[in-house]
Amino acid sequence: MRLNLSTPIADLPRVGPQYQKRLKRLGIKTIRDLVFHFPRRYEDFSDIIPISQAEAGRIGCFLGKILEIKNSRTWKRKMTITQAVVSDRTGAIRVVWFNQPYITNVLKEKDIVCLVGKVARAKEGIYLSSPAYEKISSRGRAFSKRDLIHTARIVPVYPETEGLSSRWLRMLIMSILKNLKDRIPESIPEKIRKENKLLPLNEAIWQVHFPDSFELAEKAKERFSFEEIFFIELLVLSERLKINRQRAFPIPIDLKLCRQFVGKLPFQLTDAQKKAAWQILKDMEKPRPMNRLLEGDVGSGKTVVATLAFLSAVKTGFQAAFLVPTEVLAKQHFANVSDLLDDFKVKIGLLTGKEGRIKIGKEEVKISQKKIVDKTKEGEIDLLIGTHALIQDRVRFRRLAFVAVDEQHRFGVEQRARLCEGNAGQAKLIPHLLSMTATPIPRTLALTVYGDLDISIIDQMPKGRKKVITKIVSPKERGKTYDFIRKKIREGRQAFVICPRIEPVESSQGNASEKSNQGWAEVKAVKEEYKKLSKEIFPDLKVAQLHGRMKPEEKEKIMEQFSQGKIDILVSTSVVEVGIDIPNATIMVIEGAERFGLAQLYQFRGRVGRGRHQSYCFLLTSSYSRKTASRLRALISCENGFELAEEDLKIRGPGDFFGTRQWGVPDLAMSSFSDMFLVEKARNLAKEILEKDPKLKTYPGLAQHLALFREKVHME
Ligand code: ADP
Ligand code: MG
Repeated sequence: MRLNLSTPIADLPRVGPQYQKRLKRLGIKTIRDLVFHFPRRYEDFSDIIPISQAEAGRIGCFLGKILEIKNSRTWKRKMTITQAVVSDRTGAIRVVWFNQPYITNVLKEKDIVCLVGKVARAKEGIYLSSPAYEKISSRGRAFSKRDLIHTARIVPVYPETEGLSSRWLRMLIMSILKNLKDRIPESIPEKIRKENKLLPLNEAIWQVHFPDSFELAEKAKERFSFEEIFFIELLVLSERLKINRQRAFPIPIDLKLCRQFVGKLPFQLTDAQKKAAWQILKDMEKPRPMNRLLEGDVGSGKTVVATLAFLSAVKTGFQAAFLVPTEVLAKQHFANVSDLLDDFKVKIGLLTGKEGRIKIGKEEVKISQKKIVDKTKEGEIDLLIGTHALIQDRVRFRRLAFVAVDEQHRFGVEQRARLCEGNAGQAKLIPHLLSMTATPIPRTLALTVYGDLDISIIDQMPKGRKKVITKIVSPKERGKTYDFIRKKIREGRQAFVICPRIEPVESSQGNASEKSNQGWAEVKAVKEEYKKLSKEIFPDLKVAQLHGRMKPEEKEKIMEQFSQGKIDILVSTSVVEVGIDIPNATIMVIEGAERFGLAQLYQFRGRVGRGRHQSYCFLLTSSYSRKTASRLRALISCENGFELAEEDLKIRGPGDFFGTRQWGVPDLAMSSFSDMFLVEKARNLAKEILEKDPKLKTYPGLAQHLALFREKVHME
């Protein structure tokens, strides 16, 4: 059977339903997926050790002739033992396999074999224990060295998943690569590939799976890293071009209005807020849609900045929308934004999956969701705040000019356009977009994943904020910490306890199966911690739990109760709602702190320290190394989330930095993000190409690959 990349795995004769299921857990459904399932690391068995030099305890590769081989049974332990003697020019060694009687059907006397395994010691002397074996020649028939898969070479080790051994994957991938016979179409234009000294695709695929040397394995990885970053750049830059070609309602800056708004605030804007607000207003003045990311730590005051933009859109006669990730947050923003706009007679609507509300000045009424939708369509609502319910098909605006999204990084042109389909006679217009996030994003990532966005940064906290006191707590000091927490709760405060995910060993990051396993591990950790805290440590307090496997309504309810102070301690997974403002919660306890990325820890800590009481963050560690300590100490000394993010990216690599792969970006590209040079090179090349040929008409191959890649990372 002649394979091609889109052949389903299910069509392979040796991959039965069981294996298909296991492969699917890794996200592997086609030959393409399999061929691009790269090893996690390699083991070097390319040196063949003379048998006379075999030493107990050492793993190595041996080559020799089978002098004898036979099965026997041990009656005591009911086991089959296969024993062989193998010799080379320097000596002979015993080889033992347990419970694999079929080996005698495969390996015969006089066969020349390559064996990889551990040398063990027994009373009778050393022996090779259950080695991997491959025949070099059998009854005069010799095999080529290129055919060796597991021995006498640098051997790939794949990310493990239950029931899929590296050995099995190696055999499968080798046979597929042989079948494909270098027929995989090249994805990088020849000229670019040559200029950048990148291996050709087919060569790189071979070398990444079955490298002839570590240098070549490295060269292969380099090629794939480059390719992925290059494609990401092509994607984001073409998105940017697309947006630049669109038109938007220009919203003139009304300085008087701005002054009025700022004058009514109960506080002074920070310089950073002023600067960000100005950049945003300047963008919105243009007839081209703004595409801007507003980054600022939790509590830095992004909402006020967005509110000024809402106000100026609305007062120019347009509608605006505010899209937020959860129901609780939607309500919170509805309350806060309408407070800020109290004096401006703005009609503000709330639309969630559960309810609709409307507020003008201080008047608030509940109305049906349908009414909200109707009023939005008729242009009666100035600002609509809501959850995803807001981008349902039925919601249409009459003259939407500006959309802000909170903690929701991507909102593609098509999505934006759809909201405007109702825009009276102006359906072609795209709203200005402001995307807000508290995730500090390092520069390389900002250029890549967010390369289509302009960025404003609020790098300054409002005056008078008390610094959160952060402490690293060793296992010995746990009791004391619990006492302290009890004391604070008695004083009326509340606490968060975050539980870590438990990392499975030896698995690839972010594959589908691991993600779901991780989810469960996290839930388990939360449940256990909840039991411990509620039953043993704080039986007298109200403890509740929150995790991703709960129904959305349950989660909402718990969050609501917590924000109303009905719960003292909330034990939750790391996925707990972002952006929630609970000023009375002043204690953040992070279990297994060493397992989180610094940026993540930083964000957790940001959930406290928002009210007038002194706040505390306790980093509880279960294993404590010098590296852990220095990482965690960076958190204590650090003032600025952005510096911290860059630092962490360097120390641990991006996978760890983000904790989870929220961007759907391929692993390899992620691991290259700290390479500014590579990123800039790829970006410049992508720019050059797109400037001359924005639709890639002269690069049909590239366009095709890009379409596939877009699907893979689903940027929109
Ligand atoms: P975030 O950036 O996390 O979204 P918010 O916009 O929710 O932050 O602001 C957090 C709190 O700080 C709010 O209660 C807000 O009213 C307040 N705030 C915003 N800007 C300032 C400021 N310049 N001075 C004092 N308090 C401010
Ligand atoms: Mg916020």
